[in-house]
Amino acid sequence: MTTANLSSPLGATESTDVLVVGAGLAGLNTATLLARQGHDVLLVERRSSLSGAIRTTGIFVRKTLDDFALPANCLGPPIRRVVLYPPDLRRPVSLTSPRDEYRVGDMAPLYEASAAAATDAGVRIAMGTRYAGRQGNTFHLAGRERPTVVRARFVVGADGARSTVARDLALDRNHHLLVGAEEVFELPGSNEPPTFHCVLDPSLAPGYLAWVVNDGQHAHVGVAGYAHRYPDGLRRAMERFSASAPGLTGIERPETVERRAGPIPVGGLLRRISCADGLLVGDAAGAVSPLTAGGLDPCLRQSQLAAEVLNDALHTGKAEAMHHYDGAALRTHFRGRLMLRRGWAHVRTPATAGAAFTLLRTPFGRAAASRVLFGDRSFPDPDPMPIPIPVPK
Ligand SMILES: Cc1cc2nc3c(=O)[nH]c(=O)nc-3n(C[C@H](O)[C@H](O)[C@H](O)COP(=O)(O)OP(=O)(O)OC[C@H]3O[C@@H](n4cnc5c(N)ncnc54)[C@H](O)[C@@H]3O)c2cc1C
Repeated sequence: MTTANLSSPLGATESTDVLVVGAGLAGLNTATLLARQGHDVLLVERRSSLSGAIRTTGIFVRKTLDDFALPANCLGPPIRRVVLYPPDLRRPVSLTSPRDEYRVGDMAPLYEASAAAATDAGVRIAMGTRYAGRQGNTFHLAGRERPTVVRARFVVGADGARSTVARDLALDRNHHLLVGAEEVFELPGSNEPPTFHCVLDPSLAPGYLAWVVNDGQHAHVGVAGYAHRYPDGLRRAMERFSASAPGLTGIERPETVERRAGPIPVGGLLRRISCADGLLVGDAAGAVSPLTAGGLDPCLRQSQLAAEVLNDALHTGKAEAMHHYDGAALRTHFRGRLMLRRGWAHVRTPATAGAAFTLLRTPFGRAAASRVLFGDRSFPDPDPMPIPIPVPK
């Protein structure tokens, strides 16, 4: 795969229609869609490379794979099987879907493919460039070579769960966060069918789960939960889990593994995500399922709405167009998932989690779990005729 040329040199002053901050999936897609509409877009990313400091397992759900043309060579084998374990790992519940439910993205080439699509569309990408703050409609960047002042009509905060742009636009910010960490390593091959193993143990993953994804090519071994509920810290929990993780029998963990970690906003979509000067997208907007903590599907869908609204505002010159980007209205779709999140957050002891498995082993429990794991729900689609996604097949 060719690597996009991502080193647009910046002058001391720049002007652009839209400044996009953050080259995760949300920023890359929003920038590409806007550039394809003919707008001048500058995308800045503080990391020096898109293949470093990845913060996601990269599990894409069936609905995303059906609706978006992600490059097939950046996706692992399909996964149909999920195994749910109680804290003592005994009598797990195994669920198999008749359909391909998940595929794990090979995220470094996937980000690079998205960046190549962005540069093809005309986006100027400045890597190693940090958004440093705002004064009116000028935005300050700290780059490798020199500081830059950018005059932009709009700014897009695609700068992740702890968004600085949200702060500077006086928009809502994420307060309800999980923290997650995982180890990734290549597998020499595997005898078991590609499987997503989930351990529901509040001592390892308070308020969420510990996981092993073994798709036959890579293993992802991770834990996530509420930071304040880890008595010895996330790192210790990760070490404990890694030593006893299910689904890796006969597989030796290599000395060197790739480590990923990051915050996950699970408080639901934020209410105020736009104003006359810009908007938030992806994790910055809290666009993550409060229940599954999946944020990749929301990134792709929400960036379409963001690009439509900005396109409208740029064409008409009317900032009222930004009112259509209304987090409070979209948030109503998350009510059920927010309720389940609150319920899950209350499972505080391994004994309670173990007891929940009594219900999970019944036909009703299995059906409910299948609905969550294999269902069709996604980030609400605001537009019945979505703009085609920028990443090439
Ligand atoms: C451990 C973990 C595992 C996960 N696994 C999954 C999964 O399997 N499936 C799923 O659907 N979701 C998963 N998620 C959630 C999902 O990864 C995120 O919701 C999604 O990647 C968010 O994308 P984004 O573009 O909004 O933000 P990010 O990918 O976080 O991108 C934000 C970018 O902004 C840049 N940035 C930040 N501040 C600045 C600044 N001041 N100046 C310039 N650049 C800046 C950052 O460097 C970063 O590149 C996981 C999250 C974690 C933490």
